[in-house]
Order: sequence, then structure tokens, then C-alpha cells
Amino acid sequence: MPYPTQPTASHFINGQYVEDTSGAEIPVIYPATGEQIAVVHEATPSIVEQAITSAKAAQKAWAALSGTERGRILRRAADMIRERNHDLSVLETYDTGKPLSETLYVDATSGADALEYFGGLAGSLTGEHIQLGEDWVYTRREALGLCVGIGAWNYPTQIACWKGAPALACGNAMVFKPSETTPLCALKVAEILHEAGLPAGLYNVIQGTGKVGAPLVTDPRVDKVSLTGSVPTGRKVYAAAAEGIKHVTMELGGKSPLIIFDDASLEDAVGGAILANFYSSGQVCSNGTRVFVQKGIKEAFLTRLHERLQEAQIGDPLDEATNFGPMVSENQMKIVQGYIEKGKAEGARLVCGGNALPRDGFYLEPTVFADVTDEMTIAREEIFGPVMAVFDFDTEEEAITRANETEFGLSAGVFTSDLTRGHRVIAQIEAGSCFINSYNDAPVEAPFGGSKLSGVGRENSKAAIEHYSQMKSVYVRMGAVDAPF
Ligand code: NDP
Repeated sequence: MPYPTQPTASHFINGQYVEDTSGAEIPVIYPATGEQIAVVHEATPSIVEQAITSAKAAQKAWAALSGTERGRILRRAADMIRERNHDLSVLETYDTGKPLSETLYVDATSGADALEYFGGLAGSLTGEHIQLGEDWVYTRREALGLCVGIGAWNYPTQIACWKGAPALACGNAMVFKPSETTPLCALKVAEILHEAGLPAGLYNVIQGTGKVGAPLVTDPRVDKVSLTGSVPTGRKVYAAAAEGIKHVTMELGGKSPLIIFDDASLEDAVGGAILANFYSSGQVCSNGTRVFVQKGIKEAFLTRLHERLQEAQIGDPLDEATNFGPMVSENQMKIVQGYIEKGKAEGARLVCGGNALPRDGFYLEPTVFADVTDEMTIAREEIFGPVMAVFDFDTEEEAITRANETEFGLSAGVFTSDLTRGHRVIAQIEAGSCFINSYNDAPVEAPFGGSKLSGVGRENSKAAIEHYSQMKSVYVRMGAVDAPF
């Protein structure tokens, strides 16, 4: 019996599904039950070669189209994604375990936003004219060529689109490798792009582990690498790309601070902390997992947080009433359980949660630790699961100093009713994507990315254009050439 979620084939190359069963089998597991729901095959060297050669063959003609023509196709794909949102959301739920109550609103829809936004921008990408007396210089914004995208497992549709949309808008081709944990959704993105009119070869998806990602990064025909992943992988990929002086975007991990002052609206601060820690079962790179609460409202904050966490609907992710689903894999669940044990062993106070649920699948309770100190392991390392660490602080200055004492710099949030303070504090925090009286909003119009070890480059917004194109300058002499001899 074929699995209902089995894709047509493992890879999508040169405008069509391609299979090569000689690649190692990668079982696809539904995180809510632990059952296998599909199988794909790791890309063999021949598959990698086909993807790269078809992308190279298609790219120049694509770049030669007008931006408006390219954009029209991307916007058509955005419309098709929206029309098919329900089915795509169900697939995202099977791939990741995230509840349908989330995937219906933030995955395919966010991918469609990116395609629509960059499709809209494509027609207005221009250079400039610089007059120099009689002579002049003009600049041309040109494609980089072949871009490789490598994705993490937490937002497979979104990542495939956030990388593909600006790359294609700028006239590049892409070879995308999803995480082996979530191989299904990117194939649908490729299928829809081509159905929308994208010429064959411009967006290829190939499956595999880091073993497939690594040769893509070093291939001399590849001009740019965009990775969403952990810091250790980012270090390796960045270093490998540097060997060929390739362009890179690194969207890496975080351990972001959320600072709650005692003048904040308690209800909003608790809501912000929930969004910053428990959405997607805590598997969000920008999560504000270090929650600094000013001493005056600490106990009230913990009491209200505990009450609201009792309202979490944990269960079948395909039931729209569920708002908290399983971890993506058994492996990730075990990693998070290890951190929970460390939190207890190092003396943090377990306020609630901490257990796996006695049911099939990879479910962990939303977990809150209080009285966490800055040296504890759960205060320093990215957990990537539903574990919130609450710290106390006295003064604004202290909160800023401690918030910045991390090697990461992806995100940060501040809750306060004093807006002057909100802006003053955020200005001093070392992070790329920040929030005041909110958390984890990621509209396509806003730049997204990290500082320090959390990455380089920005996704989304006009800023992404800089990372998927290059500037050529052309000096034009209008008179005679004056040479010394
Ligand atoms: P990993 O770093 O383990 O993997 C990321 C991707 O890189 C996967 O597709 C992986 O393949 C691939 N990969 C691994 N090794 C190599 C290599 N040597 N060369 C090329 N590719 C390689 O991250 P996870 O998938 O576990 O995702 C979780 C991490 O992603 C977290 O740290 C999280 O913070 C970060 N993240 C960052 C985001 C951001 O925008 N800043 C957003 C989402 C997540 P495979 O796993 O299949 O072996």
C-alpha cells in the first residue's frame, strides 16, 4: 500500500519529478504517531549532477527576462499556493508535526507572501546612473548565478520559499536541499512554481543529509549558499563556502532574551512569552527562551503563565482545536529531555511541565523553569524545544548587560508600557530581529536575520535583494582616451 503522503518521486529536477532508488532510503516519520508516512531516497552523485547542470543551463535565459516577466510567474505561484493552502498545510503538519491550527496560517501562507513580495519587487530592480562631467557610470543589478539553499526542519515550506523567492526574482537558479527530517514540502513548492510557468531547471529539490549538502556547497559552479540551520553546521558551511569565495546567507540558531519590565501589561507579557517559547512546540530559531522578569512582577508573571499554560490543547495536530503538537522527531525530543534533566540537576525550579506525554509520537509538555541563573546550561545553550527559562532582574542596565551575555544574536524582545524605555533598551541589545511589546512576528516586509553567531545576511524585505544579486558598474567615456604614452 503506498503511503498517502508519498511524493511522486524523491527529487524535482529540470521541471519534473525524478527518482533514483540507488540512493539510501530516508524514511519520513509522522511525529504525532511515530509511524512512517513516506520514503524518499538520498540524492546520488548523479542526481546532484543533474540538478546542478539543469540549473546552470536554465539560469542565463531566466536572468535575461525582464523582472516583470519573472515576477509574474512568482506571483502566479503565490496565488496557487494560497488556493491550495489547506492541502499544503496538512502536508506541512505531516512533515513536521506542527498543529494545523498553526500551519494553516503561517507556513504555506508565509511562503506565498514571499513569492508575492519578491515577485512584486522583481520589476523594479534597477541600477543607477552617475554623471561625471561628460562621462558617466551606470550600475547593473545582476544575478549571482546558481544559488544553493539548505533548509532546517522546523519550517520546510517557508524556508523553501524564503530562499527561492528572492533568488528567482533576481534572476538566479536554485538547488534546494531540505532537511532529511522534513523532505516533503519543498517538492510541492517546486511543483507549483513550475506549474505557474517557471522554466524547467530553475528550482530543483534534491534530498539527503548533510552528506548531500556538503558537495553542493563546494561545487565551483555554485555562486551562493543560503543555509538555515544550527551554529555548528553554519560554521562548517560558511568555511566551505569561503574556500570558493561564495556569497552566503547564514540563518542560524539563537538563545534570545525577552525582557519584561514590571510596568508591562501582565497579560500581554505572558502572551508574548508564550508566543516566544511554545509556538511550534518551541522549535523556532528566534524564540525568546531567556525570559528576564523584573522582580516586582515575577511571581504574578509565573502564576498567570502557569494558569494560561493549562489552557494549551495538546493532542492530534490534525485536529484544528489542538494548539500544541509533538516535537519533530524522537531524536529532538531526547535532546530536549536531556536539557530538562540538566535544568533540574543544576538547581533551576521546575514551575510546570518537564515530562513526555504517555502517548504515541514525540510529545513533551510545555516546560517552565524559574530561578534560572546565567551560568546554567539551560541559560546558555539553544534547546530548540518547549522549555522556557525565567530569570529575575532589578535594573534596566543589569537586564541589558545580562541579555547581551551570549554568543548568539538572533532576536530580542522588550515588554514595557514606557515606550521611551522600550526603544532605548532595544537599541542596546545585540540582536538582528527585535520586538517591542510583541514577539516572533515575521512579515515578509521586515528584514530577518541575526548578528554575532546567529548569522550573516538578511532574509525577506528589500535587504534580501542585496544578498541574491550583485552590482556591476560600467564607466562610459564620451571623449578621447588620454593615455600617458
Ligand atoms: P542543522 O544545522 O542540523 O541542519 C541544517 C541543514 O544543513 C540540514 O538540511 C542539514 O542536513 C544540512 N547540513 C548538515 N551538515 C551539513 C554540511 N556539512 N554541509 C551542508 N549541509 C549540511 O539544523 P536543524 O535541521 O537541526 O535545524 C535546527 C537549527 O536550525 C536550530 O539551531 C535553529 O536555531 C536553526 N534555525 C535557524 C533559523 C533562522 O532563520 N535563523 C530558522 C530555523 C532554524 P540534514 O539535517 O538533513 O542532515
